[in-house]
Amino acid sequence: MALGDFELMAFSDGTYPLDGGAFFGVIPKIMWSRKMVADEKNYVTSGLNSLLIRTGTQTILVETGMGNKLSDRMKKFYGQPAKLLDNLSGAGIAPDDIDIVINSHLHFDHCGWNTIRDKNGKIVPTFPRAKYYAPEGEWQYARKPSERDAISYIPENYDPLVESGRMTLLKGGEEIVPGISVETFRGHTASMQAIVVQGTGRNPHFSQNQGEVGHPRESFVGPTACYISDLMPTTAHIDIAWGMGFDLYPLETIESKKRYYARSIPEKWLTVFTHDAKTPWAYIERDELGKMVAKEAK
Ligand SMILES: [Zn+2]
Repeated sequence: MALGDFELMAFSDGTYPLDGGAFFGVIPKIMWSRKMVADEKNYVTSGLNSLLIRTGTQTILVETGMGNKLSDRMKKFYGQPAKLLDNLSGAGIAPDDIDIVINSHLHFDHCGWNTIRDKNGKIVPTFPRAKYYAPEGEWQYARKPSERDAISYIPENYDPLVESGRMTLLKGGEEIVPGISVETFRGHTASMQAIVVQGTGRNPHFSQNQGEVGHPRESFVGPTACYISDLMPTTAHIDIAWGMGFDLYPLETIESKKRYYARSIPEKWLTVFTHDAKTPWAYIERDELGKMVAKEAK
């Protein structure tokens, strides 16, 4: 999809089973099962979506899925689809082509392909040329997580990158490259950051002069897309009150969603869903009754 002068592509690391009850928190199954089908063990299918942005000069990968370094115990729960590199390669994108990697937070299903084990068993960056970025608060928390979510943090995904200076830690609010910035949305964790992508476009009033000497192609701020990550992981989570059971601060999830919608709806942002196995992105709107609806992006 084109976003102004930027090009957006969605890539999947595959799907994995998640307990439907945990995925929808306090929402009764009789309600969520209308939106997502559970199997006989009550598992639903969760996607692992990464967003690739080509700015014209740089290639940026937002989120790196589950990766291929899970322990045998974790593999039993989640499988290990490990499809991201194959899917990138299918589109002609090699690890070497990635200039920048951004993680919204450091749960294992969001930064798994940050690193791989080389043939000697050493942890190395998967994307050898890339600069990595992640929220500083996440990294601080990941060093001493609570018993509740300690299983979600695998230090091999980020510690070697921080130690070698390859990963820059972000406070929130930084612009990483022109048009691509991060913004903290609390709720799922204390420091999770959404990645806001503002494409540039050309001023339509200048288009008639394009190519003429002496008429610079003036750019303007174009359409916006946002990788909102686990604030609303799928199109089934867009209702203000439909948070995940995994959220550490469920009341803040609600406030963060309101803050997001206050801009994303009037400005018609494209929302990118990290765990939706069918719909990687959509426009979220409010219908006449005030209900949130996801409109397919064409
Ligand atoms: Zn998470």
